[in-house]
Amino acid sequence: MIQLFQPLSFLGMVYREIRQSLIDIEMMFDIMAQNPEVKDRPGAKPLAVARGSIRFENVSFHYDPRRPILEGLSFEIPAGRTIAIVGASGAGKSTIARLLFRFYEPAKGRILIDGQDINLVTQTSLRGAIGIVPQDTVLFNDSIAYNIRYGREGASDEEVREAARHAQIDRFIEGAPGAYEAQVGERGLKLSGGEKQRVAIARTILKGPPILVLDEATSALDSFTEHEIQDALDRVARGRTTLVIAHRLATVVNADEIIVLDKGAIIERGSHDELIARGGAYAAMWSRQYEIRQAEEVLRRAARED
Ligand code: ATP
Repeated sequence: MIQLFQPLSFLGMVYREIRQSLIDIEMMFDIMAQNPEVKDRPGAKPLAVARGSIRFENVSFHYDPRRPILEGLSFEIPAGRTIAIVGASGAGKSTIARLLFRFYEPAKGRILIDGQDINLVTQTSLRGAIGIVPQDTVLFNDSIAYNIRYGREGASDEEVREAARHAQIDRFIEGAPGAYEAQVGERGLKLSGGEKQRVAIARTILKGPPILVLDEATSALDSFTEHEIQDALDRVARGRTTLVIAHRLATVVNADEIIVLDKGAIIERGSHDELIARGGAYAAMWSRQYEIRQAEEVLRRAARED
């Protein structure tokens, strides 16, 4: 939860940092909810991103020492590749993303980006190198163009339109009264969850970070929207080092590697086909979700026919 009683100076610092590193507004709430003890080390240097490879080396973590969350976690995302983390609710998936952003530091082990320990670099440079497409995008009560341009202040109108095209939200915008100048929000244009997510994707495309975290939506999307979003996500992930936090399994099929997490430890890893052939925990999750998706689709169709 947002801690309303933190000192104002801390909020000011957080706000400035967010402005500098152009982190999404969602992250502002996240940062305020996180640990203010994590600060730059004296003499911290900016992260120098060459290709953006990520390495978790034997990482252990707990929020409360009585309850370990991650234990001895090691994996690598080679530059430009995609790794998806799957696992039951509470397995520790989002915690991995929080550690990558250094909202917390590991109790043991290290996290390296292009060989640099993220504990030793400035937070602004670290967060500036990572883009996030969150599951629930909060938009500003401002124009669509403003909401996209938030990814990179100073981007030209053409760049904003180009990002919207890549995110496959351009036709929707052009069909709205006022197009890119249409106001978003209570009294303006109301966007569905899928449309908001595509605005977030356009924003991230404009930011152009070498590293990407995709926090997959937990909410059910119909299969058409899901397909469209998947296309847009695939485009934004192309050529970037990508960590997918998969609450559902829709985005993981094409990942270079899937890591199955259970109670903070890796229990299976491999490609989708390898894990299905293995017939273990992932295969069981997959068939369960497949059945749920089929049932959801039947219900949706029945609702449309009513
Ligand atoms: P989901 O799929 O439901 O989002 P997850 O795998 O992403 O789950 P995490 O959010 O990483 O799970 O949480 C892992 C565990 O850590 C959970 O048991 C959660 O209750 C606990 N946890 C998360 N955040 C905090 C916090 N700030 N303080 C204490 N415990 C926390």
